[in-house]
Amino acid sequence: MDYRLTIVSKVNVLREELEAARKLQKKIALIPTMGALHQGHLSLVDFVRPYAEFTAASIFVNPKQFGESEDLDEYPQSLSEDIRALEEKKVDLVFTPTVDEMYGSDFSTEVSVGGITNQLCGASRPNHFDGVATVVTKLLAQFCPDYAVFGEKDYQQLMVIRRLVKDLNIKTEILGAPIVRNGDGLALSSRNQYLSDTQKKIASALYKTLQTTAKHLLRGGDIEPTLADAIENLRDAGFEPEYLEVRDEQSLALTSGKLESE
Ligand code: AMP
Repeated sequence: MDYRLTIVSKVNVLREELEAARKLQKKIALIPTMGALHQGHLSLVDFVRPYAEFTAASIFVNPKQFGESEDLDEYPQSLSEDIRALEEKKVDLVFTPTVDEMYGSDFSTEVSVGGITNQLCGASRPNHFDGVATVVTKLLAQFCPDYAVFGEKDYQQLMVIRRLVKDLNIKTEILGAPIVRNGDGLALSSRNQYLSDTQKKIASALYKTLQTTAKHLLRGGDIEPTLADAIENLRDAGFEPEYLEVRDEQSLALTSGKLESE
């Protein structure tokens, strides 16, 4: 059958398209994005392909997850390039709702995950994870996908979504996909467009410092002085670190002293 990317922006049409795929016994995978797609996003398509016969992406710049002083108005958008990239990857459907379609003027519900959301990035971005949890809950209710994939680049976000899916008994299986980096180790991100070439070079120091720090800790180094050195290195490289901590991979609980040897 000829390939064609289906583009929909209304929830009722989306439901009809997905129903047709389900009738053909196809498993459905959802890749939620805010657009300005790069190889990091596109790697998620490759990642879910073995799981599902029908791959769908959403492109929606979710105003609810941006703080008042954040970059909602400047957030990069490139819908026609995004559509071309999704076609090249043979994605079956892309959902591009308007803000009004997602949040009518009388929208009154908020999904808020407790605990881990007020720490790490949540500490400096109040309400950010409520906005993420609300939009992801809506997307999961709209698509009812068998799988939804999220990047480990936004590790705290991935853990928040795993928590909400577990707490609300949502049937979708959440998959975490590895980080795609450029040759210098900088994780690909739509917001990297804001960086000059010099700033991109400086930004690559982050990954190098994290790797050196992790190696030192895995060899039995003490956590607190090692992190203090790493923060110093990052400051020297031109960063203003908000936090640098060792956390448990599952619970995100703070770890101090030394890493437990396996
Ligand atoms: P965003 O458009 O920034 O909301 O990202 C959409 C999805 O792509 C999220 O699950 C991100 O974690 C994931 N993602 C973004 N950049 C990368 C990357 N460099 N490697 C892997 N996944 C990524």
